[in-house]
Formats: sequence, C-alpha cells, structure tokens
Amino acid sequence: MWRYFFTFCILQLVNSYLYGQETHSDFKIDCDTNVYLFAEYKDSLPFYEKHFGRNKKINIRDKKLKLAFYVALRHYPELKDVHMKVDLKKISATMMAQPTPGFLFHKQENRRYQIFVNKTKANNGMYYKDLTFNSQVGWIGHEFAHILDYTQKTNKQLFIFISKYISSKKELKKTECEADRVAIRHGLGKQLLEGVNYFYNNNRVSKAYREKKKSYYLSPEQIEIEMAENCE
Ligand SMILES: [Zn+2]
Repeated sequence: MWRYFFTFCILQLVNSYLYGQETHSDFKIDCDTNVYLFAEYKDSLPFYEKHFGRNKKINIRDKKLKLAFYVALRHYPELKDVHMKVDLKKISATMMAQPTPGFLFHKQENRRYQIFVNKTKANNGMYYKDLTFNSQVGWIGHEFAHILDYTQKTNKQLFIFISKYISSKKELKKTECEADRVAIRHGLGKQLLEGVNYFYNNNRVSKAYREKKKSYYLSPEQIEIEMAENCE
C-alpha cells in the first residue's frame, strides 16, 4: 500500500511547491492509567463527540471502536484540533495511519490524516473486533503516535520519511518501536501491553504477521522496561 502511496507522492512532488516550517513539541504525560472497560464508557459517546470531536470524522459504526478512539485521544492533547478521519479498509495490518494523499499541496499546519482499520478477518488473523476495549485504546494510541510524529515534520521531511519507511527495514523498525515508546510516554503502556500479549498468545494470528510484529515492534518485556523507565 505504501508503494502506491509513494508513487503518488513522487507525482505530487514534481508538481508542487514544498512548504516547510519545523515545529517541536514536548509530550510528557502521567503514565499512571487504569484498565479501560467498555462497560464504563458505553454511554459516554455523545460527551466525547461533543468535547473531543473537533475535526474528527469516524466513518465506522462500531461504538466500541469510536469510544476507544476518543479515550486514546484524551492521552494526546497535542492532537485535539488535528484533522483526522477513520475508515475501514482491507489492509495487511490491524491499523495504519498516514497523511491524506495530496498532503504536499497543503501547508504542514493544514495537513489531514487518516487511520485505516482492517475490515477483514481473513487478512492477518488480527481483527480489531477481537481486541478488548482496553487493547483497542492502546492500538489506536500507537497510531496517534505516528500522527503526532507526522505533524512535527515539514512536507519535505515527511516525504523523505515515507521513502525511507517503505525502503528500509531498519527505518521501519525504528519508527514502529518509537511509536510504541511515544504511546507509553502518553500513558498507554498498559493498554499496549495487553494488546501485544493477546497478539503473542493468539493462535488465530498468522505466523507471518506474528513474526513481523515480533521483529518490528517492542516485545512485552521491552514495553515493561519502557514503562518502568517512563512511568514512575
Ligand atoms: Zn505503527
């Protein structure tokens, strides 16, 4: 999928002017969170949509996933006003986040982002509906870490990043592990850990996807070390 996206980006690069303005942000947040239970949030969707729905469009009916999105979003105040939409799509991962096609035509501050959630059970055996609410919050928190990273990149930096991400396994691993670390530093270590543990012990996950996850993402042990270091 990134390959097509990259080709699209090259075409845009030829035809567009690259905007650029570097920004930095600091995101130290208390890591002491509890386990999120859907039963405790199931009536809160109208509240979340009213107070946190600015510039967010979730094109998925699943109430549990919508709420997981907003609960994770509360851990990322930096993304409060960022334009995002969420769609179901047949993809080879459980979820993925990216800038919308055409991002090179927009200024960095006007960029929009999309999160795709895999809509088919057969693709990799890791179906979002199989995850607990708490794990979904962690999983989406990982995607938010990617979006936060994108928001801090100029168009030129983002373009270079995408080309490296799709061509270098080393870069892919660095990016995915860093996204896990950022999610942990945003207080979602326990949520991430629950999802990864489920993933490691779920026989329905295809071997290929399991191996990929093991080589590119933090292991349960590494997550626990990161939590111990970041969440005092
Ligand atoms: Zn990722």
